[in-house]
Amino acid sequence: MPKENLTFDTLAAQAGSHADPNGAVAFPLYLSSNYRHLSLQAARNFDATTGYTYSRLATPNRRVLEKTLAQLEAGTHAFALSSGMAAIQLALSILKTGEEVISLDDLYGGDFRYFRYLESHAGIHFKQWNGEKVADLIAQITAKTRLIWLETPSNPTMKQLDIQTIANQVHAKNPQVLVAVDNTFLTPVYQRPLTLGADIVVHSATKYLSGHNDLLGGVLVCKDDELAKEYYDYYLTTGDTMSTFDSWLLLRSLKTLSVRMQRHTSNAQAVVEYLKQAPQVTKVLYPGKGGMVSFYLQSEAQVEHLLNHVKVISFAESLGGVESLITIPYYQTHADVAENQRARLGITPQLLRLSVGLEDPQDLIADLEQALSEK
Ligand SMILES: *Cc1c(COP(=O)(O)O)cnc(C)c1O
Repeated sequence: MPKENLTFDTLAAQAGSHADPNGAVAFPLYLSSNYRHLSLQAARNFDATTGYTYSRLATPNRRVLEKTLAQLEAGTHAFALSSGMAAIQLALSILKTGEEVISLDDLYGGDFRYFRYLESHAGIHFKQWNGEKVADLIAQITAKTRLIWLETPSNPTMKQLDIQTIANQVHAKNPQVLVAVDNTFLTPVYQRPLTLGADIVVHSATKYLSGHNDLLGGVLVCKDDELAKEYYDYYLTTGDTMSTFDSWLLLRSLKTLSVRMQRHTSNAQAVVEYLKQAPQVTKVLYPGKGGMVSFYLQSEAQVEHLLNHVKVISFAESLGGVESLITIPYYQTHADVAENQRARLGITPQLLRLSVGLEDPQDLIADLEQALSEK
């Protein structure tokens, strides 16, 4: 087995490479849904079996994937789930009726839909913070607050938060309050929230972690044994686990995560330079790294023209893959966010969100240029 102190890139490149008992360099795909007990005595004592019984509980592929994810996010326990929303559901599963969550006001749109469900069905309260003064967040913490929910950079307006300062101040006010970060946009290549004091990290693995627009998945990583135990019980019982095949595919994708993120960044930087000087573009939002770029056009007519004329870039939801995608949050990912909240955040029909892929950046720029120009 490789040493634990290997660097991120080595751990990622060799994900699963030393885990197969038969010595396979690429970890094989185990599709069996169940595993034979060695004996009744072995069945009574889980440790004495092969370690696997039934695939909802664990599979060799999911286990090696989860071990790798825990290492990459600097945690001790990782859970691979059937979608990003399933990971968010798992994260919030610890909440009890009457408890409170304070979240950033700009998040993946599905989060708000789920928060509303928990308000009306489970009596959990949600408050919002605008991401500006940490003191305003701290002032909102009460005896009922259990969780702080953050996303940085945020989707789609790219608010950037100082996770370390927030986690320090939240824990100083009340060490029982947990800080969770959705790390989908930057991935552990650029940001490892658990090393900055956060308690929980979640991902939509559908995006950069898998990176090829070909699977749906979610990840939760934490670093506390008791919290992990609570999550484990819920996870096993509800069974929102990642399929064996997707686990295999995701482990394979993690091997190239670092290289992909570097190229997403350099491509996005080139596209941002172009957008900044394009006469139709009024504002560009880019956090400096990663592949996500949001920008505003002067008019809705220009937006419609662009979406109808892109040829290399696809007009499609989702993000984080090899292929560049463009979407309009107002009508798509954030359609369910209340109109006054969208207006306050600047999620207007002129705002576009571009996931810059791994194509030649000059082809992407030429595509945007032709789609922006009215012939
Ligand atoms: C897509 C996304 C989600 C939801 O993940 P799914 O895999 O679609 O369920 C959550 N958070 C962020 C930031 C996302 O981009």
